[in-house]
Amino acid sequence: MTSKNKNWEYSPSLEGTGHIKLKKKYDLFINGKWVKSSSKKYFKTINPNDEKLIAEISHANQKDVDLAVNSARKAYDTVWSKMPANERGKYIYRIARIMQERAKELAVIESLDSGKPIREARDIDIPLACNHFFYYAGWADKLDYAFPNRKTKPLGVAGQIIPWNFPLLMAAWKIAPALAAGNTVVLKPAETTSLTALKLAEIIEESGLPAGVVNIITGHGDTGASIVNHPDINKIAFTGSTGVGKIIQKAIAGTDKKATLELGGKSANIIFDDAPLDQAIEGIVNGIFFNQGHVCCAGSRLFVQENIADKVIRKLKHRMKSLVVGNPLDKNTDVGAINSKEQLHIINKYIKLGKKEGAEIYQSECSIPKKGFFCPPTIFTNVAQSSIIVQEEIFGPVLTIQTFRTVDEVIQKANNTPFGLAAGVWTDKGSRIFNLTTKLKAGVVWANTYNKFDPASPFGGYKESGFGREGGMHGLSAYLKLS
Ligand code: NAP
Ligand code: MG
Repeated sequence: MTSKNKNWEYSPSLEGTGHIKLKKKYDLFINGKWVKSSSKKYFKTINPNDEKLIAEISHANQKDVDLAVNSARKAYDTVWSKMPANERGKYIYRIARIMQERAKELAVIESLDSGKPIREARDIDIPLACNHFFYYAGWADKLDYAFPNRKTKPLGVAGQIIPWNFPLLMAAWKIAPALAAGNTVVLKPAETTSLTALKLAEIIEESGLPAGVVNIITGHGDTGASIVNHPDINKIAFTGSTGVGKIIQKAIAGTDKKATLELGGKSANIIFDDAPLDQAIEGIVNGIFFNQGHVCCAGSRLFVQENIADKVIRKLKHRMKSLVVGNPLDKNTDVGAINSKEQLHIINKYIKLGKKEGAEIYQSECSIPKKGFFCPPTIFTNVAQSSIIVQEEIFGPVLTIQTFRTVDEVIQKANNTPFGLAAGVWTDKGSRIFNLTTKLKAGVVWANTYNKFDPASPFGGYKESGFGREGGMHGLSAYLKLS
């Protein structure tokens, strides 16, 4: 798909797929071996760009979850908790190195399976995933320095459940700190994006990590709940929707399972009239159209100071004309495919609702292919603070735009949602940045940038965006008993 604006037409530049290796059918990775599910059921994973089948994936049932948890427990008791910490660190480094060697293959598979542009998978997801393993490998034998004068002890077996928007990266966020802290793991990727987690299982196999330390099981529907409810799991690490997060919190209430929940968001991106506007426009585009808006911390609510609103909207519309929407494997693509038909349906429902609520819509002028799941970058102006499209997470390339006059007004509006994951502030004034960072109820506040991540930096939310932090030493402490 190309932009209708003739100035912005590029010849296709497709990333090759000749170097990737995929099986037709994937089984479960339990106790260091590939085992068939006792459900004997498989489900399909498709390419959201053309709706073609990529592979069949095993559906783990309760019996398989039991097997995986038992193998993680045995590995914890007999091997992993007894191993010297520097040896543990070496395995984590080895995993990072093999991931790095296979980066190109992982990037292409991530793009094929999830619909994200190859450029993002190649430049962001995969390098960051490797960096998480490198970073936490370094901590494995330095826990006493990370938490001076305190005793550290692993929690035991961690059950980890991840979403479809950053599949390999979320697996890395979960597995690397758990292993560094001395825990063993049962991880379940999301139904539509299991492939890179399964490739990671192959890498883990190749690394020689002792059997059972990491178990990767796939499934949908009841599989995640079976992990959450398993009596022999010590910690649940979940990233996903607020709805499922609430179910999990109820399910583990009254047990001694520890939990970190990384949930949804409706983050504010705030532009003051002294901001560097061209950079801010890039920040807006990156904040909401990056990864088709499938980003928990997407800057989905834009607040522009009233006196520059017309100018910012004009510039933003101009920039949207040059966004290339299309085949995720094309290196020119800025906005790839929506991950699934279901998600596209949800996004379209919100777009319809926005129009019904009386908001004014503008969409990038691009043609949408008949096959595959696509949504053009979309902005809504003339929205109210109470509009549903302003209050609820859409998880697609849809931005609402509001104006403000004063700092107090924008703080009040920005904080007026059930979520509190992230925010962006664009201004020339350092004092204003510091003022806002203390008053915005958001786990991360970016200043004059957006969507920047680093393994050393903690990430997590306030309110209905969840609790607990991942990344940095905070992420490590979430897998430790400290006394
Ligand atoms: P989701 O529907 O909540 O699913 C997340 C994971 O939970 C999937 O693996 C899913 O399995 C599993 N699951 C579903 N029902 C479950 C249950 N009852 N018990 C245990 N596990 C269950 O979320 P999603 O649609 O995949 O992801 C989008 C959401 O994730 C958005 O709200 C987004 O904001 C949030 N997110 C947050 C962060 C963060 O760090 N805060 C990061 C990324 C995404 P199936 O796929 O098999 O249903
Ligand atoms: Mg898929």
